[in-house]
Amino acid sequence: MLTQNLGYPRIGGHRELKKASEQYWAGKIDLNQLKEVAARIREDNWKTQLDAGIDLIPCNDFSFYDQTLDASVLLGAIPGRYSPVLAAGGTDSETDLYFAMARGYQKNGLDITAMEMTKWLDTNYHYIVPEFTAGQEFNISNENIFNEYKSAKSILGKKAKPVLIGPVSYLLLGKEKEQGFERIDLIKKLVPVYIEIIGRLKELGAEWIQLDEPCLALDLSKKEKEAFELAYRAIAANAGGIKVLVATYFEALLDNTQLAVNLPVAALHIDLVRAPEQLDEVLALIPPDLQLSIGVVDGRNVWKNDYEKALGLINQSIHKLGTDRVIIAPSCSLLHSPIDLELETALDPEVRSWMAFAKQKLNEVAELKQVAEGNDVLLQANKKAIESRHSSQRVHKQSVKGRVAAITEADGQRKSAFAVRQQLHRERFELPLFPTTTIGSFPQTDDIRELRAKLKKGELTVEQYDAAIEQATVEAIRWQEDLGLDVLVHGEFERNDMVEYFGEQLDGFLFTKNGWVQSYGSRCVKPPVIYGDISRPKNMTVRWTRFAASQTNKPMKGMLTGPVTILQWSFVRDDQPRDITANQIALAIRDEVVALERAGIGIIQIDEAAIREGLPLRKANRSFYLGWAVNAFRITASGVEDRTQIHTHMCYSEFNDIIEHIAAMDADVITIETSRSQMELLQAFAHFEYPNEIGPGVYDIHSPRVPGIDEMASLLAKAADLLPAQHLWVNPDCGLKTRKWPETKAALENMVAAARQARTKT
Ligand code: GLN
Ligand code: ZN
Repeated sequence: MLTQNLGYPRIGGHRELKKASEQYWAGKIDLNQLKEVAARIREDNWKTQLDAGIDLIPCNDFSFYDQTLDASVLLGAIPGRYSPVLAAGGTDSETDLYFAMARGYQKNGLDITAMEMTKWLDTNYHYIVPEFTAGQEFNISNENIFNEYKSAKSILGKKAKPVLIGPVSYLLLGKEKEQGFERIDLIKKLVPVYIEIIGRLKELGAEWIQLDEPCLALDLSKKEKEAFELAYRAIAANAGGIKVLVATYFEALLDNTQLAVNLPVAALHIDLVRAPEQLDEVLALIPPDLQLSIGVVDGRNVWKNDYEKALGLINQSIHKLGTDRVIIAPSCSLLHSPIDLELETALDPEVRSWMAFAKQKLNEVAELKQVAEGNDVLLQANKKAIESRHSSQRVHKQSVKGRVAAITEADGQRKSAFAVRQQLHRERFELPLFPTTTIGSFPQTDDIRELRAKLKKGELTVEQYDAAIEQATVEAIRWQEDLGLDVLVHGEFERNDMVEYFGEQLDGFLFTKNGWVQSYGSRCVKPPVIYGDISRPKNMTVRWTRFAASQTNKPMKGMLTGPVTILQWSFVRDDQPRDITANQIALAIRDEVVALERAGIGIIQIDEAAIREGLPLRKANRSFYLGWAVNAFRITASGVEDRTQIHTHMCYSEFNDIIEHIAAMDADVITIETSRSQMELLQAFAHFEYPNEIGPGVYDIHSPRVPGIDEMASLLAKAADLLPAQHLWVNPDCGLKTRKWPETKAALENMVAAARQARTKT
């Protein structure tokens, strides 16, 4: 029985790669210094995996920015607009080209946009989307994969296993940049290059190659299925005896099981953490020579593996296949988990004993092999940790469980229908047509961040910190009034992050010191960890919202983060279903909504920025998710009187296929990101005849550019063509915390002017 790993985090235990990359971009270190840091990280990673006793160890899983971008460079899929970067020459022009594709290029009189970036399947990792043209050609254009294999081999010998995204997923995860062709048809041109790459790796001594084909676990058309067959038949015929491992993850194979198990490859990897139930069918259909890599250690979470559970799956596999054909592995690349629990010295030792980061997960894979071979000592030790978590009173709060169990339909139901509420809001707030507002946060300047840093270091007292935040809040209120905005916000100056701020105040959350995970390029996130039943020991936002409201006669919008977004941007429990955790958060936020209402706040916004990104990859699983996600929101929103106006906000809002669920949230007002789509995204709302009020963002907050009055007025006019003017609000696309004050003020001034213009015309 073999063990393997599919990929390892490459940012370094102390985010060395992040720091070095940013220094390189700032011109503070040279390319050789950057490459040295990278080489050290790779070597450390290989040694760590070797020490852990892993049999097949990935190489080429390292990347300076993103592995899909690396694949594009390897395969020569470099968009034409970057040619001038190479032509500009210079000793580091290849590296310039690479980072130009990732981050854009503004140098030597050139101004070239970056390639698009999007979420890697249902993770929070972002990849650079490959771009294809009708006449797309592919050819080996970069030596990295070969060089990396060579250095891996010098340390790992036969254990070194090159990793590359598979040809079908590479195409499917990309985008056509011209009309008149389908990218999947490029497979015939692409496969010969893969064959050449594999041939060269084989020549260099590689025994295995891992081709990641996550799309094999998605809904596929007939043509896409045929592309898999065609590609792998051609590779099998020409691979010269290299063992190809096809890796799937994040979903079950379902209707693609036949296709997957019959691909002419040496081994197939399946994710048994996300979808343990698929093992039965895979084992039933597996042909006699295929090896099966079973992902039994969660690559996307922070919890210690339950050996007994994993052992069941391992034994079931061995029973059918024999030990020779079973490979034990993490569920997916460990890229998605933090690196080393040993660095978390400040964590409570009991809670820590329930956890495992990437390095510990490698040990789990190796130990599971021993457990499967009969090592009972390891099994018993693991059982003890798992049991302690199962019965710990830090995790389990009967009062919270009881409250969730007692949720009724009425808890997700506002007292009256929207039309009744709307009338009450009109009488209460007396807002003009096209009321103006913002999404919540104002610029988090260095000054504000510094306040928080000083408070943490003890250089400021709580009183001093509060006074400074109060001052920032008052200033923001004054100029919102001067500007003539209709519904004000307090600015969120007291918040570090829209999830962390709540996690820090709720019971059931913990925070790590070093639990960083790559989000994109050099950007890393440190998600909170939900470890126990969630409750709200005291008010979380009332103090600041009430203070802000007392400074103005205009309506002050209270600002909260919704349950699905808190869930989505945290590491979640694996000992209870997501919907239960979501309901626990929903009840806590509901209590906060009610507390705000009691404090006299008439308008409350519950942000659900991440509801769309939580959508399951497979269509078949979506209605279940949407059912509980929408209901969790409704629970948070329905504790209040009709006269209270509930807002929600969502980022990038492609809602065509789920619009009825967005409507079912029944928020009195929804604000969404639409400006970059030129209001196109509003069409879904128009077709559906979306009944409630809506604020389509009239300007893009992602860039410092100040939009003109006419530009926003014309977007508003477009919106008014699609939806009743009486339902429309005027606001930016999202919060303004990443912006600077000058552009924020100028843009909002123009926005208010655009709304005034629209009023006189209607
Ligand atoms: N209220 C939050 C803010 O303005 C919303 C941010 C978001 O949707 N990502 O920052
Ligand atoms: Zn947003």
